[in-house]
Amino acid sequence: MKTISLIGSTGSIGTQTLDVCMKHNIKVKALAAKRSVRLLAEQAHKFNAEIVCVFDEDKYNELCGLMTDTDAEVLCGMDGLCKVAELDGIDLFVNSVVGMVGLLPTLKAIEKGRDIALANKETLVAGGIIVMQKAEEKGVKIYPIDSEHSAIFQCLQGNDKKQLNKIILTASGGPFFGKTKAELENVTVEQALNHPNWSMGNKITIDSATLMNKGLEFIEAKWLFGVEPEDIEIVVNRESVLHSAVEFDDYSVIGQLGTPDMKIPIQYALLYPERYECDVNRLSLTDYGTLSFYKPDYETFDCLRACIEAIKKGGAYPCLVNGANEEAVKLFLERRISFLDIGRIVSGILTEFEPMEINTYEDVLKADKAAREYVVRRVSV
Ligand code: MN
Repeated sequence: MKTISLIGSTGSIGTQTLDVCMKHNIKVKALAAKRSVRLLAEQAHKFNAEIVCVFDEDKYNELCGLMTDTDAEVLCGMDGLCKVAELDGIDLFVNSVVGMVGLLPTLKAIEKGRDIALANKETLVAGGIIVMQKAEEKGVKIYPIDSEHSAIFQCLQGNDKKQLNKIILTASGGPFFGKTKAELENVTVEQALNHPNWSMGNKITIDSATLMNKGLEFIEAKWLFGVEPEDIEIVVNRESVLHSAVEFDDYSVIGQLGTPDMKIPIQYALLYPERYECDVNRLSLTDYGTLSFYKPDYETFDCLRACIEAIKKGGAYPCLVNGANEEAVKLFLERRISFLDIGRIVSGILTEFEPMEINTYEDVLKADKAAREYVVRRVSV
């Protein structure tokens, strides 16, 4: 029986991860969430968790009150998240929090030699250099939970990675596929939150509408699979059925297909290399009839272009675009900036900052903070 610890348990990936654990008898030793303590406590009871942690410290007392009928240890804050990540006696640490907050727990787990199932994009985008270096040093395996990276990972099984010629990273195109910038000028928060194929949390749904999400995934792919930016092609598949593909040196292309449901990549990461029945609708190609493919529109979607430029420039630039985007999305959701402002801000940061190197976690924090301050400054004038 496998044992995991999980941070981000009340989010979209977190709750689906727990569904997979329930179905396949995976033991959940520790759980953490941002601030939804009622659901968190419910999950902790259901799985008999030994440790339960809430990130927002003002929710600590409430969580303690909800756990008094158990022997569970109750923790809070970043220290708590890191304890969940470092926990002894687990096979896999699952990181499904949203944002930069996921980076330190990832580094702590690697330090302990713990294998990781990773849904937290920002970990690799902001800290890719140090995360991959440390993971290699410690022999830690990182299993991607993101559907695209899981697809690429699956396509590489049984093949020699040295013969990988190109990654074909697929995108849904988001709710604003085919639109021009002029048509996107007055997009509302509600319109941006309405994704055609995937149901996800707010931050990633906005990132999918701006195509920032694909930009982040582009950067992640570079780190996870050790390829150059020139060797990753983004292709829009409107149906989100081809989850990504790889091309080998003989130009044979192998792709992974399935209905758009995160349970498949979550289960593959948790049970790798085993494959068991998954609680999803099966793919019927004939029900779809046709699959459509397009080039992405780099003109309209500034965020996507900015991410690719950032990883080509290297150093702190990926971290800067990520930090700027997190801040900009927050402002958009608060209705303080427009939809297109997100792209303007994210691409603006590339020309505003001199190159900086990333060698340590502190360097990442510094760049991230600088990016956020830039956004606040820019918006308040
Ligand atoms: Mn994805």
